[in-house]
Amino acid sequence: MSKSYVMNTYGRYDVSFEKGKGAKIYDTEGNEYIDFVSGVAVNCLGHANPVITNAITEQSQKLMHISNYYWNENAKELAKILCENSNHEKVFFCNSGAEAIETALKLARKYGSLSKTPDKNEIIYMENSFHGRTMGALSVTGQAKYQESFKPLIGNVKSVKFNDLDEIETAVSEKTCAIIVEPIQGEGGIIKAQVDFLKKLRELCDKFDAVLIFDEVQCGIGRTGSLFAYKKFGVVPDVICMAKALGGGFPIGAAMANKKVAEAFVPGDHGNTYGGNPLAAAVSLAIMKELINGGVISKVDEKAKYIVDRLEEMKEKYSQITEIRGMGLLIGICLDTDIKAFTKKCFDKRLLVITAGSNVVRLLPPLNVTEEEMKAALDTLEEVFKEIN
Ligand SMILES: *Cc1c(COP(=O)(O)O)cnc(C)c1O
Repeated sequence: MSKSYVMNTYGRYDVSFEKGKGAKIYDTEGNEYIDFVSGVAVNCLGHANPVITNAITEQSQKLMHISNYYWNENAKELAKILCENSNHEKVFFCNSGAEAIETALKLARKYGSLSKTPDKNEIIYMENSFHGRTMGALSVTGQAKYQESFKPLIGNVKSVKFNDLDEIETAVSEKTCAIIVEPIQGEGGIIKAQVDFLKKLRELCDKFDAVLIFDEVQCGIGRTGSLFAYKKFGVVPDVICMAKALGGGFPIGAAMANKKVAEAFVPGDHGNTYGGNPLAAAVSLAIMKELINGGVISKVDEKAKYIVDRLEEMKEKYSQITEIRGMGLLIGICLDTDIKAFTKKCFDKRLLVITAGSNVVRLLPPLNVTEEEMKAALDTLEEVFKEIN
């Protein structure tokens, strides 16, 4: 079997997918599934969207890649759109979420190194967070199961309880160069930051001249019903990390910062080979235009309401559901039953969903999901609840 040649890092379902259209996806046997995973919040416009396929076709026939030692207009325009739709002024492009986090951490360390305070290099992160698998991102990921076998991690990082106002107050000092937080913890179980908590982080970062980093890799780019999640919370970070939906399936990531922090980087400080290459930037540019001007983001809340209303109805009927939570189309169904077994039952009925944390089933439909697709997914969920009830 050729799968024995692939490293054993995922507990994969025994299925290979071949093609898709919108929120529908087809396996190699031709079976149709409804995809409410969207490649983990990546396929914001669904599968095989012409906005994306046309951008790839057209750009790939012109120019795919050049070195970052030269300019390309697509990356400049993409950076401009991101900045014009945020409170930030400068973007660094990379290829993934973890790389966006690495960029933010390095930027914060550099910013700290320019301070008059010696050894201003401590990074504070949250318990139960997830920021990626590279050594830096892993070092600020507050879950033992991800970190355990890979120590020693990077130094001078420390974790605090998420949403705990007292603990953060005592943790931050002159030595702190950054606080990193997900406005909504994704992998950790779709747990929202409290507005007061984020306000406190902002206040402490201002007081100690530390960099406030929001990891919006999962919750950003329209998922919450706003292009950036921070806008829904009304707290402006210094740096935003994004990836996943930024490329809709084509790998691209970015860290965007305000001018004050971004200016810490000078030529030679950071870089990568592919980041923001003409092809990746063309795809992302087409997606941004569709999300913002094509009215996709403005319909997210309405679609989310359709799903959540129906889930709330199910919650009244099925005692296994303890809570429905999330924001926009980042939706968590908290269960007091085995979530792995639950997602497997959904899979057997050809609905793709994933878990988050220890007791949450996560729904991440494409942002342009149709009513028919939503209804099909909800009907399947209801069938599973009927079965286990
Ligand atoms: C997925 C994710 C990452 C890591 O992104 P990769 O592209 O897998 O490296 C980081 N932070 C959050 C919140 C994520 O959901």
